[in-house]
Amino acid sequence: MNICLFCAISAGKIPAHVVYEDDRTMAFLDIHPSAPGHTLIIPKTHAARIEDLSAEDAAALFSALHRLAKPIREAVEAEAATVGINDGPGSGQEVPHVHVHVIPRRRGDGGTLIQLVARTGTRGTSLADVADKIRKKIAQPTNG
Ligand code: 5GP
Ligand code: ZN
Repeated sequence: MNICLFCAISAGKIPAHVVYEDDRTMAFLDIHPSAPGHTLIIPKTHAARIEDLSAEDAAALFSALHRLAKPIREAVEAEAATVGINDGPGSGQEVPHVHVHVIPRRRGDGGTLIQLVARTGTRGTSLADVADKIRKKIAQPTNG
């Protein structure tokens, strides 16, 4: 397929269980849910990585999450949710169109914490050095 899978869903060319739509975003059920109610929220405009989103779509995406988190959870009677984005192939991102996973959670569901997706820890770096490097990257004109 030439067209991106989630662009095709957004254009209505591939069916999905759509639960929400607004001008900039759409939400539909993940075809292989990790838990009942596992929902993907996407920008309608293609962006492969978070940094490729327009500021407007970035805001709209979080706004849609804000709108949907509670109803998704309540619809499946879950007490909590894990929310996350796999950003880039190295993180396991399979569909290169930004999508927010909303995975309803409950105690004893066998899942884990989002911060356990990587286990390398500090790799010998100090927090102060890493913070300094990040601040310098943020300050670069290309990152503003
Ligand atoms: P990623 O690893 O890219 O963050 O996750 C992509 C997600 O998209 C997976 O959880 C996968 O189950 C879901 N997915 C893949 N193909 C389809 C599809 O055709 N329809 C829907 N609704 N979800 C899909
Ligand atoms: Zn796309």
